[in-house]
Amino acid sequence: MRGTGGATGRFRLAAPWLGLADDIEGTDQLSGWVADDMEADALAALAALAAGPVGATLTRLTAPGAGPLAVLGDVRVTDRFRSGSGALRITLEWPARLRGTTSPSGGGVVRHGVPQARTGEDCVCERHDCGGLDPVLWCAEHGDEIAPVLDWHAGGGLRCAQLARGRAASA
Ligand SMILES: [Zn+2]
Ligand SMILES: [Zn+2]
Repeated sequence: MRGTGGATGRFRLAAPWLGLADDIEGTDQLSGWVADDMEADALAALAALAAGPVGATLTRLTAPGAGPLAVLGDVRVTDRFRSGSGALRITLEWPARLRGTTSPSGGGVVRHGVPQARTGEDCVCERHDCGGLDPVLWCAEHGDEIAPVLDWHAGGGLRCAQLARGRAASA
């Protein structure tokens, strides 16, 4: 995870439960038991990461049967439950539309930017089925000096799939 101040932390949850919404307006949930041996540090770090005004970013989430996923911010700790034996179960939530595929390097969410202007023939950016692209600095249309207006979404996520379906249907 990465917090708003740039602080990062790694967490492992035992007996994890991951609920992924199908609806772009829905909410994803992850809950599980915080391991005893990392409890104090993990909790302090989790609280700090998720306490910022925009929540934390999940740069890489691996879970049995899913992932690796990533979440583009707004990750919150929404529930804490301490059992009689002292074990702690926490729940994280985030808007489903912010979930996507983690980058191959594990450095965070793959982001796709959809240009508001039609893309011309000079574009050398990698393009995706959703109509979005990964801008490269040396692209004559989307490079650093041009500062194009792009609508960003999480690559491989619900919004990405929705856009790709729309484009396939209109093609
Ligand atoms: Zn381009
Ligand atoms: Zn996309």
